[in-house]
Amino acid sequence: MERLPGVGEARPSRCPPCGVPGVGLDGRVNLHGHGLRERTISGPPQLGAAPETVGLILRRYECQRCDAVLVVGPRGIVPGYLYSAMAIGLALLLWGVLRQRDEDVQRAISINRLRGASRPERWQTVRRWAKAASAGEVWSSIQVTLQGTRRELAERVSRILCARAGPAPTDAERIWSASGHAR
Ligand SMILES: [Zn+2]
Repeated sequence: MERLPGVGEARPSRCPPCGVPGVGLDGRVNLHGHGLRERTISGPPQLGAAPETVGLILRRYECQRCDAVLVVGPRGIVPGYLYSAMAIGLALLLWGVLRQRDEDVQRAISINRLRGASRPERWQTVRRWAKAASAGEVWSSIQVTLQGTRRELAERVSRILCARAGPAPTDAERIWSASGHAR
């Protein structure tokens, strides 16, 4: 995230749809640079940090065999979501497992600052994330069949993510790592 990697550095080793190597043994380049795309990503940049929005530049590649266009960027980008996968995972943990109040979860994750009297009692975003994540819309490998409240769905998804992480002292560290790596 610190700098834009060069077109050669960021080139995927393989094309995921067709499997052709990015650069063949004969030196032939199969994944051609195909320009840049800008987007933003929101949430805490590191665990425990205040939420913010940063701009990213993603590299695109076009497969010369199957015409797929691949977008390469730092981990944690979820297509269609403004927030990082780590921010979403952490929100689900705080709300679903640690049972924090909406306003505390919002303060930890959201870039929209809470304001006095207009402060909402319910933070709808974390409820939307709980439903979407349980349906495989955030991490496609996670699907929860549980029928339950949004908070129960958030708890279940959090437990699955935490179980996938390597050893770490806290659930927050586990879910931060697993959320960024899970697909
Ligand atoms: Zn391909």
